[in-house]
Amino acid sequence: MNPSLITIDGSQGEGGGQVLRTSLTLSALTGRPLRLVHIRAGRSRPGLRPQHLTAVRAVAAVCAAQLQGDKIDSQTLEFHPTAPPQAGRYQFDVSAAAQTFSAGAVTLICQAILWPLLYAAAPSQVTLRGGTFVPFSPPYHYLAHVAQPAFARFGAQVATELQAWGWMQAGGGAVQMTVTPTTRLHAAAFVPEATTQISGVAGVTNLPADIAQRMARRAHNLLQALGFQPHVQPVRETGKGPGAGIVLWLPGAGFSCLGRKGFPADQVAETAVAQLRAFVDNRASVNNPLRGGGWPFAVDKYLADQLLIPMALAHGTSSFTTNQITQHTLTNAALLQQWLDIPVRIEGALDQPGRVTVTGVGFTLA
Ligand code: ATP
Repeated sequence: MNPSLITIDGSQGEGGGQVLRTSLTLSALTGRPLRLVHIRAGRSRPGLRPQHLTAVRAVAAVCAAQLQGDKIDSQTLEFHPTAPPQAGRYQFDVSAAAQTFSAGAVTLICQAILWPLLYAAAPSQVTLRGGTFVPFSPPYHYLAHVAQPAFARFGAQVATELQAWGWMQAGGGAVQMTVTPTTRLHAAAFVPEATTQISGVAGVTNLPADIAQRMARRAHNLLQALGFQPHVQPVRETGKGPGAGIVLWLPGAGFSCLGRKGFPADQVAETAVAQLRAFVDNRASVNNPLRGGGWPFAVDKYLADQLLIPMALAHGTSSFTTNQITQHTLTNAALLQQWLDIPVRIEGALDQPGRVTVTGVGFTLA
């Protein structure tokens, strides 16, 4: 255990929940106590919201951390791990932190707890309840079909199951995650994968099945017209409250849109397809400095920031190209430099295509 306290400024860079989650993960792994100040100062309602407080409690449970400031709206947190990551069966519910229904995104909490549990001595099973399809976070199918396969490239063995769908505002979704430990992750180089296959799911809960079918059919027709071979499955599932949404994916990238009252099912599908098309069209851009044969971009802008932690932990040099360097990616890169003292090489400017290269520390638990 490294006893020297690190102070992290939560207002840096993107100034949102990611600064908190990345810091929790690295505190649990390194054993280094953390003082986090100005938590989510970049948001209109700063401080710990239910999703963030649940992440604090989840990661704290894994490394038996002593906490100060772990309450809703707190803008300062002390997090002192007292043990290396412990395998186990864990359950967390975002509603418990909110003390009411909450749709805080469980996919983000999964990612905070995943990396510490990968270095535990035995397999773990985690059940997380809250939102599974929430704006500004990875929908469950993005986690399962885009992020997990990418994490597997580093040797991270993670399985997830969606047990119930949880939408904004009611929440009530559930994801079960099984983590098989490893002693060390290895580097991965992401290169563009040429494919014409697009997978997807168009789901509803507590709404007529034909809404799911309309979303799936519209996406299928549009994608087919673009020359893809789509497989978009319409599903009517169990969940709390009415909800509808679509997620489309291909290797390294995922695109989603949530339905809402008065927003026709066809337009939900069109919105997701438009995002996918923009990603694919970038490949043809003559201004793209990374342009090459086939797919120039290995990963989308979301996976880009989510890959930085495994890249930093892995043994060896990892890299990817992405269609957009975001503030989230720059912020996570800066945090990894503070925590692990490793350079993250970023070619390309903010909001432009880029390439990210990291030589990881080859992290092992002493
Ligand atoms: P805050 O409320 O402070 O914004 P947060 O913790 O919910 O906090 P961010 O800190 O903004 O959110 O982090 C959001 C994470 O979700 C990032 O890793 C981002 O890549 C990911 N993300 C956002 N939207 C999507 C999406 N549509 N698909 C996949 N991943 C997404």
